[in-house]
Amino acid sequence: MSDCLFCKFVRKEIPTRVVFEDDSCLAFEDINPKAPVHVLVIPKKHVASINVMTMEDEAVLGHLAFAARQIALEKKIDQSGYRAVFNTGPDAGQSVFHIHLHLLGGRPLAWPPG
Ligand code: AMP
Ligand code: ZN
Repeated sequence: MSDCLFCKFVRKEIPTRVVFEDDSCLAFEDINPKAPVHVLVIPKKHVASINVMTMEDEAVLGHLAFAARQIALEKKIDQSGYRAVFNTGPDAGQSVFHIHLHLLGGRPLAWPPG
């Protein structure tokens, strides 16, 4: 989707602070971090949310978790712990409609979230 901000990151039309990239995903620093580590991991394919994913997207979404683990290792939060979250729809506060896994860590994270 051409007017999607995160697709523009994938196409390198807008610069962002990339921390990981491979054939199917891109990860970059959140512009408004909510924890010492706050990285967004996205599929390169535009999918608006979990609500509209198809079976075709299962593998790449699983791959986002694998990439998040690699980033957690690199950021040295794999032992202290982290949270991996897909906000979906209004009650979860989803504001960007291109699926993104929030990788949060580097401090204790309250549960349940607000
Ligand atoms: P959500 O509210 O779950 O849809 O998350 C969207 C996230 O995208 C928020 O944490 C924002 O801070 C982040 N975000 C918005 N614009 C940018 C940007 N230009 N670069 C990096 N992260 C962004
Ligand atoms: Zn997109």
